[in-house]
Formats: sequence, C-alpha cells, structure tokens
Amino acid sequence: MSGRTLFTKIIEGEIPCYKLYENEHVFAFLDINPLSKGHTLLIPKEPAPTIDQLTPDSAAAIGKALPILSRAIKEATGAIAYNIIQNNGKEAGMTVPHVHFHIIPRYPESKHSFTWEPKSMDVSEGRTIADAIQHSLSE
Ligand code: AMP
Repeated sequence: MSGRTLFTKIIEGEIPCYKLYENEHVFAFLDINPLSKGHTLLIPKEPAPTIDQLTPDSAAAIGKALPILSRAIKEATGAIAYNIIQNNGKEAGMTVPHVHFHIIPRYPESKHSFTWEPKSMDVSEGRTIADAIQHSLSE
C-alpha cells in the first residue's frame, strides 16, 4: 500500500528502529539523529499528519504515555531536564507528516536551544484572537 509514512513503516517493522515502548495506540523509539543521548520519538499508531487531526483515543494515549516515557528516560539517562517538542506542518519544521513528540533530554553540558523572539502582546489583538479561538472552540 502506498502513502504510508516512514513512521508507519517503523511501527510495522518494515524499517528497523531502537524500539522503547508500544501499546495499542502508541509507539516510541529513539530518534535516528539525536539532539542528545536518549532523544526519543513518541508517535500514535494512527497516521494523523498533525495533532489537530488526531482522534480522542490516540490523543489520550499519547497524553498518558508522555509522562511514563519521560520518567523512564530521565531515570535511564540521568538527564537533569528535558524538552518536549512537537511540530505540525512542514512550515513549522515537520519533516515526517505523522504526528510525533520529541522528548529531548538535557545534560549539564547540553548546548541545544529552542529560541524564539518574544514580543509584547497588543491588548486589542489579544482580545480579538482570544474571542476568535473561543468561538471556534464552541462550534
Ligand atoms: P520533525 O523534524 O519534527 O518532523 O522530526 C522528525 C524526526 O524523525 C527527526 O528528528 C529525524 O531525525 C527522525 N527520523 C527520521 N527518520 C528516522 C528513522 N528512520 N528512525 C528514527 N528517527 C528518524
């Protein structure tokens, strides 16, 4: 079958990986190009391209697995902290169109950063966008 993502092929064992965890809804494995030791990817088995397209069952399973995996990674690596990063859409830096959460351990010597330039909130713009999002939520 064509159109299967790289990550679906990993779940199905067609492409090898360092598997860490699997249950009915989720799968976790080491990132092949780690930013730090223990850099892990947690993915739903459902091949949704972005998180807004994930079913409630998959979303709940991801939410349940994140703390379990994070604890195990911290304990196994001795990381002092970690980042959880999740990109949606290629414009947001997503290279594999299958939802995935990066769990990236941080060590005393770690230098990687996820920087952005914060700007101050325009009050009227804040009200307008908050109203628009609340309206979408109520639909
Ligand atoms: P993103 O850039 O957020 O879409 O992340 C995709 C991630 O998938 C990158 O960090 C890649 O290193 C990782 N990746 C790509 N191919 C593989 C693979 N075969 N096994 C494990 N990780 C992979």
